[in-house]
Order: sequence, then structure tokens, then C-alpha cells
Amino acid sequence: MVTTHNLGFPRIGKQRELKFALEKYWTNHISQEELLQTASTLRQQHWENQSALDLAPVGDFSFYDQVLDTSFLLGNVPQRVENISDNELDNYFRVARGRASTNESSCTCVQAGEMTKWFDTNYHYIVPEFSQATNFALQPQRLIAQIVEAQAQGINTKPVIVGPVTYLWLGKSKDTSNKLDLLDSLVVVYAQLFDELAKLGIEWVQIDEPILVTELSADWQLAFEKTYQSLASSPVKLLLASYFGTLQDNLMLTCNLPVDGLHIDAINAKEEVQKVIDNLADNKILSLGVINGRNIWKTDFSATLLWLKPIYQQLKDRLWLAPSCSLLHVPVDLGSEQALDVDIKSWLSFAVQKLEELRILAKALNQGQASVTKEIANNINAIDNRKHSLLVHNSLVKQRVADVSDALGNRQSSYKVRVKIQGEKLNLPLYPTTTIGSFPQTTEIRQARRNYKAGQLSETEYIKAMRAEVQHCIKMQVELGLDVLVHGEPERNDMVEYFGQQLEGYAFSQFGWVQSYGSRCVKPPIIFGDISRLKPMTVEWAVYAQSLTNKPVKGMLTGPVTMLNWSFVRDDQPRATTCLQLSFAIRDEVIDLEKANINIIQIDEAALREGLPLRQSQWQEYLDWAVNAYRISANGVNDGTQIHTHMCYSEFNDIIGAIAHMDADVITIETSRSDMELLDVFDDFTYPNEIGPGVYDIHSPNIPTVNSIVELMQKAAQRIPAERLWVNPDCGLKTRNWSEVKPALENMILASKQLRN
Ligand code: GLN
Ligand code: ZN
Repeated sequence: MVTTHNLGFPRIGKQRELKFALEKYWTNHISQEELLQTASTLRQQHWENQSALDLAPVGDFSFYDQVLDTSFLLGNVPQRVENISDNELDNYFRVARGRASTNESSCTCVQAGEMTKWFDTNYHYIVPEFSQATNFALQPQRLIAQIVEAQAQGINTKPVIVGPVTYLWLGKSKDTSNKLDLLDSLVVVYAQLFDELAKLGIEWVQIDEPILVTELSADWQLAFEKTYQSLASSPVKLLLASYFGTLQDNLMLTCNLPVDGLHIDAINAKEEVQKVIDNLADNKILSLGVINGRNIWKTDFSATLLWLKPIYQQLKDRLWLAPSCSLLHVPVDLGSEQALDVDIKSWLSFAVQKLEELRILAKALNQGQASVTKEIANNINAIDNRKHSLLVHNSLVKQRVADVSDALGNRQSSYKVRVKIQGEKLNLPLYPTTTIGSFPQTTEIRQARRNYKAGQLSETEYIKAMRAEVQHCIKMQVELGLDVLVHGEPERNDMVEYFGQQLEGYAFSQFGWVQSYGSRCVKPPIIFGDISRLKPMTVEWAVYAQSLTNKPVKGMLTGPVTMLNWSFVRDDQPRATTCLQLSFAIRDEVIDLEKANINIIQIDEAALREGLPLRQSQWQEYLDWAVNAYRISANGVNDGTQIHTHMCYSEFNDIIGAIAHMDADVITIETSRSDMELLDVFDDFTYPNEIGPGVYDIHSPNIPTVNSIVELMQKAAQRIPAERLWVNPDCGLKTRNWSEVKPALENMILASKQLRN
């Protein structure tokens, strides 16, 4: 018989119950008992959702982050919180977010732990901290309590734990010590943990080691061998889980580790499965992640079963089935969606549905396909409907993509030629000043947008309200004396959603929330079909703003790569193809803006870096198609039109060639926090075009002084000639107040005047 299990379930709740409870707790609106109660209700609910599985995960629930949970489990708690209070949960929140509650009377705030992306997902974890003084000491109470809870509910529990090697690898050494020196003492604690788990009657423990899908140096490969040799005599069985990619040169290492079973991502590493089977000792379990845990499409039962049946015949009871990775990365329940097109809805599958798919696949193998005839027939219908749907396929779009040539991405002339033409046309001063696009989004603006969406505000009234805000933004910018203005983006709630809603091929869920960090969730739009633009999306706003001033107004668009990276994407064509479709839609918008006499156009690629594959060996391929898509969207304009792009993270050193190849006339980037150190890359690389290194950290309420801005810009001028420098904030200003933005921009403009002199 095939065994079914799950690697992790989303914990935020169908209606984001955990988010709201956390935020109420942090603002002292509910007690800790109430928070704990919500958490336990959610866990109970989620185990019920998983009750048809042979094994359900425990330990995947977290109040903030599972890596931070692991730090607490291992007793690796930063010293700065150790003696603050004896309330462990509050200390946990202090590490997670700097403080346990917003209104702490005597603030026991500490520096929050660093947060970074969990592999190539949009989930962020709290980075473990290590130093020479790090001492591990098992603190298993929380995990044990949850296991007991699940067992009482009659769940066959499989604890899920971040593995020791991945845990070390994800952390940061705060001094000069080598993290790997901690391995031996760390492994001892894991061994103690397994003893504790065995006492609870646990048979299987899932150990997540996703770094096995990355490029590992010899010392880290060795760390794997040492670790699992030491743990080989554990009284529990270990299922070593890798996911998010292929094992490649770690494949033999992984197969040979002395564990009781492996989990392989059979979506991303399907082509490796046979090799794993061939190299796996015949007493080991093989769990195959056959359901995509990173996307929202229905599994194709026929294709999956066709592939799985011979594997099942080969492995028999040794075959386990699961989603490819934790379901943390998909929304909870499609059943909540009331507004999706019925066809589109029939193609989708969220966490709850994915587990049902798993049950059906296992039943088909265990009891024969005849036992699930109806389910399979329904699935075939849905898959077939999607394959041939007119909603999905647009032959004109396909033709345009097929006819693409690299020449479409080339500007008419080189930057050297363009800069002269643009200079004459725009007549900007040295050190020109601008902003990144959005201005503060006040409660009134948000309310107007909401009312309009809810049908309580007519289109005319809505446009009037937004125009009034554009007018206000322009007036402020003129008074401040900025050189290149923006309309302020009051009509946009989100930089991807705003465009997605106007494009064919995009759908939006109502409750498709996915945890991003802590209590924060995002609701990625769904690209289900060929992308096309029905009509101009931003031209009226830009033209209206331009009509109010003689200064140039910058048109403002989101680039194709960012649209792609922040959406759930199609699995029926390569990402590169979808990206190209998006780039044509944006290209048409760029050209329409140019026709409407908007002479400066910014195309934001905030998420370009995020799309980099986990393995550096695959970076170039991604950068080639991504930069090409950007170029096609941006570069269809005349020499006199100035193209800007903006990126939020400026850790460019490793991809600077690709950034330069975008050939934007101006790039604005986030740099202020790094004291311009991020510009070191320009010591060795001559960036050919103009650049605006951010001088105002918009993530902080602090107002930068004139002097600090001048100093930052002078540092920049040591690397980039002054005539190619712009003065601007790090990013959009929508999360700030006017009372902060005004003095900050005033200082920015004063600084730029000083620099000119
Ligand atoms: N133009 C966008 C804004 O100003 C850019 C946002 C971003 O880079 N994340 O809000
Ligand atoms: Zn930004």
C-alpha cells in the first residue's frame, strides 16, 4: 500500500484568523490565553483537514516562523532577550519583531532578528544567530505539547523539523567563528530530541534539508555525512526531505545517507526520480512529492498515474506520496472563493484540495483506478477544459510571441546618442531630483478606492477624487521644486494587482492569502491565460498629471518580470513565455504613453532579483530571458524618450552585467541604508548610463538631513560621474505620511542645490 503524508499545512487560517489574533495580541486587544486558544483551534481544524492522510505533520504550526521555532527548540535564543521576561512567547515575539506588544509600558524592545527569504519563495524566515558562545540546549516542550494535542485528536503524527545542516546553513555567524564548528554540539541536541519523540510513541520524523537542492561545497556535503552518521542509531525513523529543486551533484550523497527514507520533489526533480530509485537501498522509503506545493493548479491525474504506476510496481510499500513541499506556499481553501469564474475555479486547487488529490491518487494505486472512476473523470474534464479553453488561448498573443526578435529589445541608438537628444528635450539640471512613483496613501484615498470597488462611489466621483489627489501631488512637487514629477499613484492599491486587473489572462482570488512573514500575507494574482492589453491602462492619469505642469511628468509602470515573479503563474508553458506576453502588454503601454507626449517613463522591476534560481549555474539562463523581456517592454521608444527603471534591492554585484544590459537611461535603486557601500560594485564595473542611488530610507520614519544626503551623493560621485547621477528616495513613498515626506524631500532638494554649486 502507498502511504500518504503531508509536509506542512498553511497555518494562517482560511480567513487569516492567526494574522488577526496575532495583531490583536500585539496591540493588547486580546490576552495570551486567547491567542493560544485561536492557535489551538486552528491546529485542530488543520489536522481535521488532513485526517484522511496516513501521516499528518506536527510542528509545522508557528506563531511567526518555523525557523525561529527551531531556534527556540534548540535553545539558540539571542542573548539580548534572555532575561527580559519569563514569558517565552513574548521573548519569541521580541526576536521576531523587536517587541512583544506595541504599547508595552516600559518598552522592553530589542533588535529584531534579521529576516530573509526562504529559498526561492516569498516566505521570509528569521535568520538564526550564531557565535562562539552559542550553546544549544533542547527545549522541546512546545513541540511535545503539540504532538500530544494531535495524538489526542487521533492523528497519526509525524513531527516536522528543520534539519541540523540546513539550520546551520540558514543562520549567520555574528562573529568570526565558523558555523560548521557548531555542528557536533548541534547534532547532540537533535539526538536528544529524537529520544524524547520516541518516548511519545513517534515512529517517523520528517527532517527538512532543502539545502540539498543548492550548490554545496565539499565541507557542507561532508557535514551531511557526519550528521546523519551520528543520527543513524536514533530510536525514530528519519524521513529526510528535500524540495524546491533538483539534487544534481548532491544526489548520490543524499541517497547514501543512513536515513530511513527520502522525500524528493517530484515536480521540480521529476527527471531525477528514476536515478534516485536506482541508487536507493531497498530498505528505504521513497516519498515522492507529486502534487505541486508551489502553485495553484489541479494535478493532472491521468499523466501522474501513468508515470507513477510503474514506480509503484517497483517500490510497492516503499512508496509514499505527498505534495512536493509544505503547503505553506499556497492558499488554504478554494471552497472560500465565491467570485472566480466557474471554469477557472474548476482548474484550481488550494491546500485543502491538494490533499484531496493526494488521497485520490493513493486510492487509485492502492485499490485500482476503478475505485476512483468518477474523480478521475472529473479531473480529466477539468484538465481538458483548461487545455482548450478560449479563456486561456489567444492566437494573436501566441503569434506575437512566436514572431519575437531580439531587435525589438534594442533602442534606436546607443545611450551616448540618446543622452544628447534627451538632454536638449528635457533640459534638466545637474543632479536632477525625482521620486520613485507613489506618494502617501492617506485613509481618504484608500477609502475612496474601497467605496468605488464596493459600488458605493460612481466612476465619475471616483475619478474626481483621484484627480484631486493627483492635483495635490503635482502641486506639492512643484512647490517643493522637484525636477521630474510623478502623478503619485493614488489609484493603485498594489503595483502588480493594478495592472493585472486591466489585463486579459489574470484572475484574482478573494481569500488566496499566502504567508509572507509573521502576520503578513500576500494574495498573488493568478495568471491563467495568454496576456493581452485591451486598452491603455495608465495614459489618462499620466496625461492629466502632465496637463497640470510644465515640468516633465514620469509615466509609471510595473515591468513584466515583476508582474511574473509576484503572481501564481501558468504551468502549461515556460515562465519565459508568460513573461514575454507580459512584456508585450507593457510595451504597448509604453508606446501609448510616448504617443501621449509623456517623455519620461519608468518601468519598475522591483522583483527582478527575486526570480534568480537557487543554483547559480542557472542564473544566466534566467537573466537572459528576464532582461530580454524587460528590454522588449521598455525599448520600443524613440531616442528622445527617457526610460527609467527602479529596483528595490541593490545587491547587484553578482548581476551588474545583466542590469547594465537592460539599457535603461536611468536606474533608481535602494542604497541609503548601506551608506552607499552597495555602490562598491561600480569600482570595478563601469555602469554606462545614469543612476539614482536612493538617499532617503523610506522604510524608516527618520528624516534625512541635507548634510547626510550631500555626503551620500558625494560618495556616489566618487564612483559615477556627477552628470550621470540623480537624487531620489530609495523607493515609493506610499507607506509614509506627508508630514515625513515633505521635510525629507525639502532636504533632498536643498542637498541637490548644494551639490550643483
Ligand atoms: N512605483 C512604485 C512606487 O513608488 C515602486 C514600488 C516598488 O519599487 N516596490 O510605489
Ligand atoms: Zn522600490
